[in-house]
Amino acid sequence: MIIPDKIKIFAEDVIINKTDLLKRDNSYGVANYRYNEIQIDNTLEKGLEEATFFHEVTHFILNKMNENEVNNEKFVCVFSSLLNQALKGCLK
Ligand SMILES: [Zn+2]
Repeated sequence: MIIPDKIKIFAEDVIINKTDLLKRDNSYGVANYRYNEIQIDNTLEKGLEEATFFHEVTHFILNKMNENEVNNEKFVCVFSSLLNQALKGCLK
């Protein structure tokens, strides 16, 4: 799957940036709600990069929905994994 440069959540563009700035935090990805940006570590192997993309998108959607689960890592991990599995092979 090709990680897109941007996605849309409600009517807002969310930019996807691959960066090497996350290594210092030991993070694979970050959902930056204030700047409508998702950052993904640019050194991840493909499968982990895709999993991180879906994980951060899930955080972002829950944040925009004002859902309490936004910081529930267990929920986000399971939901994003299922979304990734459901869409595997369907996306470019
Ligand atoms: Zn998370």
